[in-house]
Amino acid sequence: MKGGLFIKPVIGVLGNLLINEGGLFPGMVRTYVNHDYIHAVEKAGGVPLLLPVVQEVENVRKQVEQVDGILLTGGYDINPLLYGEDSYKDLGFIFPEVDEYQKNVTLLANRLGKPMLGICRGLQILNVVFNGTLYQDLMQVPTVTKHFQKSQKHVPGHKVKLESGTVLNRIFAKDELLTNSFHHQAIKDLAPGFIVSARAEDGVIEGIERPNSPFTVGVQWHPEMMVGNYPEMLTLFITFIENCR
Ligand code: MN
Repeated sequence: MKGGLFIKPVIGVLGNLLINEGGLFPGMVRTYVNHDYIHAVEKAGGVPLLLPVVQEVENVRKQVEQVDGILLTGGYDINPLLYGEDSYKDLGFIFPEVDEYQKNVTLLANRLGKPMLGICRGLQILNVVFNGTLYQDLMQVPTVTKHFQKSQKHVPGHKVKLESGTVLNRIFAKDELLTNSFHHQAIKDLAPGFIVSARAEDGVIEGIERPNSPFTVGVQWHPEMMVGNYPEMLTLFITFIENCR
């Protein structure tokens, strides 16, 4: 930074809800986020702020107004009714309250011109909120390779090809990247206004972005789980956070 005050951007990290299965309070609903997101944002120069799921639109507004950018985190499957489909047999657990909240955050952040980075489900939320659709389960695509790896979280599961000239291509400064893969859903129809910036070899969409707008990027893999072993993954967070200034 040249001269002037260096103020770290505040990154709203979208919280999720977890239903406690055992322990002292079976059935208790808890707010949580995987700590890897917090760690990655902090390491990349941002101030992470966990935003819990709230219902009132006024509260969503207050939350979004406080932050300089939004990190859309991973989580459950998205209710297919949001893109006009009934449930396919292999749809996973859905949490409509979380969907509703994240949709409101995304629309508002978009209206206020706040940069957004979507990871895994976060990429899918961006696509669905802006009128795209999903494969509810990748078994609907007969030619797919493995996208839900059994190995450790940081271990690369497949390659992705980065489309030239895209933000992702510039960030990683290469045409091919090794990523982990923990998803059973993927984008079917891309939302209007977005472009595909990364694909797996089987054609599955692994990265999207919206040109001509504040930083709006989604990736299907989990870079936050890889930053410790593959420092290049941090560059995605660094660029996102620079765009939040
Ligand atoms: Mn994948």
